[in-house]
Amino acid sequence: MTGRFRLALIAHDKMKDAMVDWAARHEDALSRCDIQATGTTGGRILERLPALRITRLKSGPMGGDQQIGAMIAEGKIDGLVFFVDPLSPHPHDVDVKALTRLALVYDIPMACNPSTADLVVAGYAAKR
Ligand code: PGA
Repeated sequence: MTGRFRLALIAHDKMKDAMVDWAARHEDALSRCDIQATGTTGGRILERLPALRITRLKSGPMGGDQQIGAMIAEGKIDGLVFFVDPLSPHPHDVDVKALTRLALVYDIPMACNPSTADLVVAGYAAKR
């Protein structure tokens, strides 16, 4: 792989602690990525890992998920980590479906839980 891996990060509220822990475990790999994140998720990660290069978009329910969807459609995202809360209803539930569909259309890796996200990072690291 040439250039920096362009990674998008999103976590539903009850999954934000898991996202921050995951990002901390992979800080070295993530430090070589250009990261786009929904607003609150990006803010939480930056509180713990201020050295990461993260662009914060709008909050998910306010359109941040769809901003990431647009970037996927424009070929600006190489991978998506979206920690979905499977136990709570969300007003922007349709955005999960929309992002999943775009990840399929454009064949980008999409991890919806920490164990799969570990494999995505390992795959990215192996390609370098
Ligand atoms: P947030 O958005 O990072 O702004 O909370 C995530 C989401 O719930 O889609």
